[in-house]
Amino acid sequence: MKAQFAHVIVVAAASIFALFGLAANRPAWGQDAATPPTGRSDYQVARGTHLTLQSDVGTDESLKDLVESFDAAVPQWERMLKLPAGTLDHWKVRAYLMEQPDRFRASGDLPQTLDFKHGYAMPGVVWVRLQPSQYYTRHLLLHEGVHALAIDQFGSTGPSWYSEGVAEQLSVHRDQGRTIQLGTVPGSKSEVPYWGRFKLIEQARNDAKIPSLATVMELPTDLRGDVESYGWCWLVSLLFNQYPEYESLWQQAARDANDLPEAFTQAMRRKLESQWPIINARWRLLTETVDYGFDLQREQVDLSIRDPLFRQSELNLNVSADRGWQSTGVRFAPGTTLTITATGQCSVNQSPKPWISEPAGITIHYAKGRPLGQLIGCMLPNLADDNQYATPLKTFTLDQTQTIVIDQHCWLLFRVNDYLGDLGNNQGGYKLSIRTSP
Ligand SMILES: [Zn+2]
Repeated sequence: MKAQFAHVIVVAAASIFALFGLAANRPAWGQDAATPPTGRSDYQVARGTHLTLQSDVGTDESLKDLVESFDAAVPQWERMLKLPAGTLDHWKVRAYLMEQPDRFRASGDLPQTLDFKHGYAMPGVVWVRLQPSQYYTRHLLLHEGVHALAIDQFGSTGPSWYSEGVAEQLSVHRDQGRTIQLGTVPGSKSEVPYWGRFKLIEQARNDAKIPSLATVMELPTDLRGDVESYGWCWLVSLLFNQYPEYESLWQQAARDANDLPEAFTQAMRRKLESQWPIINARWRLLTETVDYGFDLQREQVDLSIRDPLFRQSELNLNVSADRGWQSTGVRFAPGTTLTITATGQCSVNQSPKPWISEPAGITIHYAKGRPLGQLIGCMLPNLADDNQYATPLKTFTLDQTQTIVIDQHCWLLFRVNDYLGDLGNNQGGYKLSIRTSP
């Protein structure tokens, strides 16, 4: 019974992924699908240690890349899922890369009842349709491979927010073949052609439709091919793996994937209960900030439910230019009026010579629509927001001395404006003095 249930979930999750709409960029799809079955089975076959790939499309080189990438991914998955070393040494998957699925139906390699646009996973076998870029074909092969691995090791894949999060996190990659690196955040659009998740996340931000963490964790098993939902699932996975305190919870959850989806999610909510305001606040910062180049380490935000309420008359803080959002370490109550003074200098670029900035920023150079080096503040609510969409965070800029009125229970965070992937070469920072105003 359990196996049957697991199968239903896996099939549903995989087929939803299959409904992704990027095929529209490749008009040949529809025409190919209408091509009558040929009954031919003169496929190309490429064999690796873990993968046997059968394909009706591609060059020797492109198929070799896919097999080598998959083989190099397996030991990384083993490590990332904390499986005992050697567990996957003999794990094997059969994969079909298809330009014309009807040929595979005719040759008996694709069940007649399976119909999908992108990819599909079952125990020990995956099907992937050719994508408009080699990156995305490889990504999808890996994504379905993670589902197949989860079924093999854990008996199932868990509810969609978890299963698609894990599959996405372990398939986003840099490089290819033997040097492939999994679990990365793409540095640029050109690194991940046709992947497209950041574009949809940006659109949601602009429309003030960033889902709350609770919303994502309640996504239905049937995601109806909504690519944006896959993006949110991926971000949940990134969040859990960005902070050491959630990481083991995330890895352990894979072992509970056989539970009913509702029970799985409720158990996770219970385990997170004492941390819920913190993980929610971090979710809001992540979803408001993430884009190409997002640096998981530099964007870790230090928050605690034990942060005291601000009562002092003055608080001093150094805001480093080489980190993301930085908290003052205290909470603020509504109605508090603060005077914030910012001083100091930082450098936000080193080449050909250091670019020195003050809190107002360098007004001839812009990043993300703001002057490079500009000091930005943010009011981050203390209370978890379980509404469908999170209320957009309030940000403000600071130049020398400014008065702000706190209008909600919140933390105050600051950062120096720069491209997300370019924080590493920054030096110095600004000194902030925060005082209550009468
Ligand atoms: Zn999937």
